[in-house]
Amino acid sequence: MNSIRTRDSAVIWHPYTQMKHWPEAIGIVRGEGVYLVDEAGNRYIDAISSWWVNLHGHAHPYIAAQLSQQLYQLEHCIFAGFTHEPAVRLAERLLPLLPGAMVRIFYSDNGSTAVEVAIKMAWQYHQQTGSGKTKLVALEGAYHGDTFGAMSVSGRSLFTDRFAPLLFDAAFIPFPGEDNEAACLAAFDALLEAGDVAAIILEPLIQGSAGMRMYPPAVLEQLMQRARQQGCLVIADEVMTGFGRTGTLFACDQVQAAGPDIVCLSKGLTGGTLPLGVTACSQDIFDAFLGDEAHRTLYHGHSFTANPIACMAGNASLDLLLDPVCQENIQQIGQAHARARLRWQDHKRIKSVRQHGTILAIELDTGSGTGYLNEQRDFIYRFFLERGILMRPLGNIIYILPPYCITLPELDLIYRQIDALLETI
Ligand SMILES: *Cc1c(COP(=O)(O)O)cnc(C)c1O
Repeated sequence: MNSIRTRDSAVIWHPYTQMKHWPEAIGIVRGEGVYLVDEAGNRYIDAISSWWVNLHGHAHPYIAAQLSQQLYQLEHCIFAGFTHEPAVRLAERLLPLLPGAMVRIFYSDNGSTAVEVAIKMAWQYHQQTGSGKTKLVALEGAYHGDTFGAMSVSGRSLFTDRFAPLLFDAAFIPFPGEDNEAACLAAFDALLEAGDVAAIILEPLIQGSAGMRMYPPAVLEQLMQRARQQGCLVIADEVMTGFGRTGTLFACDQVQAAGPDIVCLSKGLTGGTLPLGVTACSQDIFDAFLGDEAHRTLYHGHSFTANPIACMAGNASLDLLLDPVCQENIQQIGQAHARARLRWQDHKRIKSVRQHGTILAIELDTGSGTGYLNEQRDFIYRFFLERGILMRPLGNIIYILPPYCITLPELDLIYRQIDALLETI
């Protein structure tokens, strides 16, 4: 039998991949905690939690055991008119943990769909309350997913360019990075002034895909307060930031004022084990959909809505996440990152080093600008792979976003390889 890698190259089309230049993928046969093991026996530290999804390490025995039991009990069933314990229990447990005053959980099956549902909820809410508000606002550089609604509220980029005429209009305000906070707030104020803003959608504290761009909780709070005063709904896309990544359970927890009206979750929701999406909403929104007319219904659903195995993974992951051991690990990763950040602070090859909780990002000064297609990207990707570390730079930005089971020596190994990279560029 040929290798997985060879067979793959005959039949598979990979995501975000120019197949002409990357005809071969690495065949993974096993996951063990923070490691992925390939068919030749090479081990890779999964420093990016396999696209930001993994929380507790790969093939976690506790999650595996829970899922195995559930598989023999109920693998899937229709979720309209029917329900089941794993979905109800996960909703009961999530609601009190979420930022804002969330009262209902709407299930779907990934981050993009969680965003699609949020957009529909917000848009239809304003129709049914008669507010007449229709405009959607997002931040420049936002990433909310790859389906058309999610693309429409994402920053226009290489990813969306080809489909520009198919996207609906959204208003974009400047990203509130350093020196830009006032401009961001002023732009939002100007839009709100017109009185037609239905909702603002944002990635709280960190824009992931844009290059782990960060902004302070104070600005998030300002945006939320302004929205609230003007009857504009706040959609918090916590798909990446949720479940401890920023050091708090949710990024919005770092804001004092009233929280979001709608929260989107996916990625870490199942500990990274299975696809699942959640869109949570407030009482006010849920109530606006109650009525006798057929058109008041939220007409949205997916075949695998609230899949019991995925919901079980969500419950199992929560058990592990809320355990003091995991909470302690999250703090330790944050502290280790903070120490590493200090040592790179004034490095001549580094433009900026930034951190929120367990996420550490380093923007390299490669002399050739910033962007997803920065030519150093492929070199850096291979540099770390050859050293047994899976990193996927966003252009000239490298970042560590590890599973919480990573040990300090493993983190240190990654830091040292970053030092080695800095020597070579
Ligand atoms: C990844 C991501 C999404 C899309 O989730 P998918 O499950 O990949 O569709 C949406 N929003 C944010 C902030 C994300 O990081």
